[in-house]
Amino acid sequence: MRALRFHGVKDLRVEDVPPPDKAGPDDVVVQTAWCGICGTDLHEYMAGPIFIPTETDPFTGAKAPQILGHEFSGKVLSVGSNVRSVKAGDRVAIQPLVAPPDDFYARRGYGQLSARLGMVGLNWPWGGFGEQAVLREQNVAKLPDEVSDEQGAMIEPAAVVVHAVDKGRVQAGSSVLITGAGPIGALTALAASAAGATRIIVSETNPLRRERIMELGVVDDVVDPAAADTRRRIADQTEGGQGVDVAIECVGHAGALGTCIENVRKRGTIVQVGLSVGPGMVDISMLVTKDITLEGSWCYPLTLWPRTIALVASGKMPVERILSDKVGLDEAVGRGFEMLTKPGAGKLKILVNAAA
Ligand SMILES: [Zn+2]
Repeated sequence: MRALRFHGVKDLRVEDVPPPDKAGPDDVVVQTAWCGICGTDLHEYMAGPIFIPTETDPFTGAKAPQILGHEFSGKVLSVGSNVRSVKAGDRVAIQPLVAPPDDFYARRGYGQLSARLGMVGLNWPWGGFGEQAVLREQNVAKLPDEVSDEQGAMIEPAAVVVHAVDKGRVQAGSSVLITGAGPIGALTALAASAAGATRIIVSETNPLRRERIMELGVVDDVVDPAAADTRRRIADQTEGGQGVDVAIECVGHAGALGTCIENVRKRGTIVQVGLSVGPGMVDISMLVTKDITLEGSWCYPLTLWPRTIALVASGKMPVERILSDKVGLDEAVGRGFEMLTKPGAGKLKILVNAAA
């Protein structure tokens, strides 16, 4: 079968690799459908290996060259003798996190926080940019007819933002500021809207992305954080001019966290979703004197899939609106990874089909 594998920085190759054997008793073999290119994949491409193991991973057995891709949908080809929840022919969305069952956090229901966490497409022997993948039963969730294969590939990033919106306690009628209009910022806007937020403002430095974010149809205003009147403009759109109830930081930059601290109201909540490449300065005094709650948000609880799928199936979270392009495996680097790492690019989500 064909697969896109990571060999090193800027070195992704489409190669022939052996397809899976017969499914083990607890395994599900999937024919992949669509798989999204994620910011994590771009980090590996530009500066990896970061999460990709160069020595054999003691829990998962994975080792570079690694098949990439962790945001994907597919169709079940075969299942092991112990598998009950899916059968051959079922369409599924993949939940890529695999936690060791004996882990401190996994035993407490927080497997995503395990230090030995495995992730399909990063440190697992299979990934979504290969024609087939072997997964554990708990890593596949059946898709209803209302959810397309393309939407199914976006359940993973959708779960990331549903968790962030949960942690921000966004409620019916909330005002929300989102920093960053990339794919995660855009999905956060959709999730905040689905949760009932009635004023959604996005802050973004890239003019192309500022334009693109309004096309989602759920954003009330988009601001440039560097503009002189940004603070007043945001405040004027909130109750009593006090600032937003919730700010969700999707850039991973101290400057963007600073924008959140400035524009959230006193006793408001900030959720940090973006991963930072290095430390930076934030105004700690303002964080304290405004009595702000600051939350980190890492991945998602492993039980979030059914709820996220239901949200997409209901039409309340139209994840397909962030789709910029769909390409085959041979075009994944040129029209995918390269397009998304170009400075100032306006593209959001690009999906790859390994079989095309
Ligand atoms: Zn991802």
